[in-house]
Amino acid sequence: MYLNNSKIIVIKIGSSLLIDENKKVRKKWLAEFAKDIQVLIKQNKKVIIVSSGAIAMGCKKLNLSKKNLKLDKSQAVASIGQIELMNLFSETFNKLRINISQILLTLEDTEQRRRAINAKRTFDNLFQLGFVPIVNENDSIATSEIKYGDNDRLASRVAQISGADSLILLSDVNGLYTKNPKIYKTAKLLKEIKNIDKDLEKNATKSISEHGTGGMKTKIDAAKICQLSGCRMAIANGLLIRPIKKIIDENNCTWFLPKISKLDARKKWIISSISPKGQLIIDDGAKQALSNGKSLLAAGIKKVIGKFQKGDHVKVLDKRNFECARGLSSFSSDEIIKILGHHSKEIEKLLGYVAKSEVIHKDDIVEV
Ligand code: GLU
Repeated sequence: MYLNNSKIIVIKIGSSLLIDENKKVRKKWLAEFAKDIQVLIKQNKKVIIVSSGAIAMGCKKLNLSKKNLKLDKSQAVASIGQIELMNLFSETFNKLRINISQILLTLEDTEQRRRAINAKRTFDNLFQLGFVPIVNENDSIATSEIKYGDNDRLASRVAQISGADSLILLSDVNGLYTKNPKIYKTAKLLKEIKNIDKDLEKNATKSISEHGTGGMKTKIDAAKICQLSGCRMAIANGLLIRPIKKIIDENNCTWFLPKISKLDARKKWIISSISPKGQLIIDDGAKQALSNGKSLLAAGIKKVIGKFQKGDHVKVLDKRNFECARGLSSFSSDEIIKILGHHSKEIEKLLGYVAKSEVIHKDDIVEV
């Protein structure tokens, strides 16, 4: 069983598991969930919990409805709710002597390499100290342009950065079905998914809805990140009592299997970027060069889309607009506009200063 072989496990809890429709906190459920975590810790596994619920807890405290909440107000509400959320965790986990800590992340903490490494170091140190990190997005600071907005993708990036073997998204559905189970009695739960193809994505978004911020779409996005990071991911029903035990005993969930990857940690991080800032369209010659492990040069670039800075993540598309690679650009979009189509030797003259000769160095690019 996958969980038995996992050393580092990330578990994501959606708001609806902590607070029911009548705004009642599901204390009994959390107390049982803590037992699941205790079992994993006793087996020497490292656990990270990604928990939503700051906004829901804040709304409960202020007696507000989550609907129609404007961003700036929701930031204040999250600030009030986050402490309520952590109080709930510490009250419940203390009873079982499970040590917990809090980490609040913004998008840049995972999307900038230096900050991602820093986050990894903090996770490692917390593991060494015997603490279970509880992560949420820093909703009080994040604005709409620099926000994950959903904890599914946040959890997958946390799994990738921490080197987790498994990510479990506890949701209010059992997993992915062949058809909508609420309409079709013959719908079957998909137990294992190796490839996420277009049909699967379409079906998942259309037929299965769920209450959380992300729904199925962000869960599939999270699964794609996990697949590239060499991490297994499950969508499982968290509404059940002792959901992790249920997964271990009954395996009634959907597992996305990782792709075999020879990429090192840095390249895994590059390929699973959440927020590429722009796109470079390249010609067939440059595409071939990338396949041969070469750098991307200005001569092979046909067009730049979007505005980005030096060091930002970009997507590389072929002339048919299919994504073929992702990388970290050594030039800003404005600079690339000036040098595209030109030989590397001309860059200094075109820009008026000495610069690198590759637009994306081979160490900074990964083919998709
Ligand atoms: N970070 C949000 C919260 O704690 C939840 C995001 C989500 O639902 O995925 O309220």
